[in-house]
Amino acid sequence: MSRAPEPPPPADHAAPPAASVFEPVHDRYGLRLALVLGNQAPGGVCPWAAAGRCHHCDIGLGEGRALDAPANLARLAWLLAHHAADLERVAHLVVYDSGSVLNPRELAPEVLDAVLAAARGLPAARVVSLDTREAFVTGPALARVAGALGPGLVARITLGLESADDRVREGALAKRMPLAAVARAIDALGQAEAALGPGRFGLDVNVLVGGPGTTPATTVDDAVATARWAAERARAAGLGVDLNVHPYYPSARGLGRFPDHPRCPPELTARAVLALTAAARALAPGAGVFVGWQDEGHDHEPARRDEELARARAAFDAFNRGQDPGALAPLLAR
Ligand code: SF4
Repeated sequence: MSRAPEPPPPADHAAPPAASVFEPVHDRYGLRLALVLGNQAPGGVCPWAAAGRCHHCDIGLGEGRALDAPANLARLAWLLAHHAADLERVAHLVVYDSGSVLNPRELAPEVLDAVLAAARGLPAARVVSLDTREAFVTGPALARVAGALGPGLVARITLGLESADDRVREGALAKRMPLAAVARAIDALGQAEAALGPGRFGLDVNVLVGGPGTTPATTVDDAVATARWAAERARAAGLGVDLNVHPYYPSARGLGRFPDHPRCPPELTARAVLALTAAARALAPGAGVFVGWQDEGHDHEPARRDEELARARAAFDAFNRGQDPGALAPLLAR
């Protein structure tokens, strides 16, 4: 594979909000870098959030402005220049846009093409994850992605399921994300994988741990049931699956709707990760798990977040990197 392209000089106006510049971390593939582009929908707001059709996250509210395609291309150039020292080692590129990367209204096709071209130029890249709502996972969209990436890179589609329990996902989180629609997207991904040959696509599923609709007594069971649902659907579709685990923290929208719902402590997250990893691997032996902790500044309890990271980050980082549940032992012993 060719060397990483020389990034163009950065333009300061293209810089994202500081909290949206993710620190590179390690996962099962190697160095993982997440790029947060702007959302190009009106107001820069994810259309599901704008229409009141999803109340889950503050990230969908965007950064207070809509970027157009030239501004987003400048953002991409800024991010590549900012991370220039790491680009040659990036194995896993993760792409966000405060909404759906595969929706051309939120990310113009030329911007997506530029992101995929940049990924293709990364010498160590193996995997590209694209975060999107289920509605945009279609055969033509997937063919476009695979064509742009070429056969050397796996395109993983990230779906924010959060919980397979309708009472949690549709009731408490109000995601307006029917399981049947998610299953259809997974099947479309599987069909693309079957059509283009093995190893072109994979499935990432987000799992929210300890969020509204759960209690400390039901959190682990909810996470396990969600992991099982994702692993079963992925296996049926002929896809590998990775689970992105996010402990709940109170965001502005979360606090507004559930002022008394507590954040999920690392110890409970570790118990859930241990259980859901075993459950997923029993159904899909190659399943990977990643514990995410970077919050784009939306955690309304930053001091508690810092305190939790001080005692938990080393264990989560070791788990993310080596995938050994034993790495969580320091948290499970508390
Ligand atoms: S979870 Fe996704 S669809 Fe819902 S508001 Fe956030 S970005 Fe938008």
